[in-house]
Amino acid sequence: MNLILLGPPGAGKGTQAKRLETAFGLKQLSTGDMLRSAVREGTEVGLKAKAVMDAGELVSDEIMVRMIADRIDQPDCRNGFILDGFPRTVAQAESLDAMLARKGLMLDAVIQMAVDDEALVKRVIGRFTCASCGAGYNDFFHRPKVEGVCDVCGGTKFDRRADDTEETVRARLQLFHDQTAPILPYYQERGLLKAVDGMASMDEVFSQIVACLPQEKLA
Ligand code: AMP
Repeated sequence: MNLILLGPPGAGKGTQAKRLETAFGLKQLSTGDMLRSAVREGTEVGLKAKAVMDAGELVSDEIMVRMIADRIDQPDCRNGFILDGFPRTVAQAESLDAMLARKGLMLDAVIQMAVDDEALVKRVIGRFTCASCGAGYNDFFHRPKVEGVCDVCGGTKFDRRADDTEETVRARLQLFHDQTAPILPYYQERGLLKAVDGMASMDEVFSQIVACLPQEKLA
């Protein structure tokens, strides 16, 4: 089963992709995570992408399409994949279609996660993760029970993404509306688009997503 999670920054794509990964043995392919590791490792792509990401802009379609094409060929994608953060432009969606056709693969569903813009800003500027186990927290909605100590593993170091500042989030949201939202009609016309309420609780969003999936492939 091959899925796309489509939604603005902070919609909960990463959280739901991880749950789908665990529940159905699919592989989460987050282009943002791939780019962040390329930046950390100082690869050629990472060097090109860093300034673009820090400004909340989009990395070139060419780089992104090549990155995904190579990744989908890896053995861990054999059972299917969840694209998280890709495609982000109509050009990427068209290249993805051509790429999947060449590989003899198809998409089963494109899940749109709809969330109100002001809620997104708070979700994104407040979010941080435990540096040891990756557990997610938020300054406004979900602080650790003991200040500075991870509830899950007891870790005391936390990470925040360099691009999660208010200015950058607003730029990323604007880009979502200008460049990514036009993908919605593209998938609607192909009968693949399903919408879920990204403002609902994490469990409720997960149930809504599962209800959108082709039931015959869930067994
Ligand atoms: P994300 O983790 O999905 O919010 O992505 C973080 C940043 O990586 C974005 O703000 C972009 O600069 C870049 N990025 C991730 N995915 C893509 C993509 N499909 N196309 C262009 N840029 C991307």
